[in-house]
Parts: sequence; structure tokens; C-alpha cells
Amino acid sequence: MPIFTCAQCGKTFTSRRCLLKHDNFHHKGLRFPCEHCGKGFFGKDALVRHTLIHTGERPFKRLVHA
Ligand SMILES: [Zn+2]
Ligand SMILES: [Zn+2]
Repeated sequence: MPIFTCAQCGKTFTSRRCLLKHDNFHHKGLRFPCEHCGKGFFGKDALVRHTLIHTGERPFKRLVHA
């Protein structure tokens, strides 16, 4: 099992996503972490907009694939 260590405090995680989430939240102050990739955001609006990348809820893109 791969171990990912936080460069700031030495805490270890079993997934890169968890480490990213921890780093963004505890060290960078990004209060809104993406559940899908661990990326953090300062505002909820930015997170919601980003989450669309994962959920694919973009009418424009759907039309292209349909
Ligand atoms: Zn840390
Ligand atoms: Zn994401």
C-alpha cells in the first residue's frame, strides 16, 4: 500500500487524494475540498464550478457526446 507523507507536518495518508485534501485544508486554508480529486478551493462557488468537471453536468458537453 503506498504511503503519502505530508511535507508540512509529516502526517501519512494511504491515498494521494487524502493527502491533497489534508494539505489544502490544514496548510493552505482551502476550506472547500473536492470530493473527487482532493483539490481545494477558497469559495463554495469555485468548488461547485469545479465539481462539474467530474459529474459531467454540462449541457454543452453532453450535446457534443450525444
Ligand atoms: Zn500536514
Ligand atoms: Zn476535483
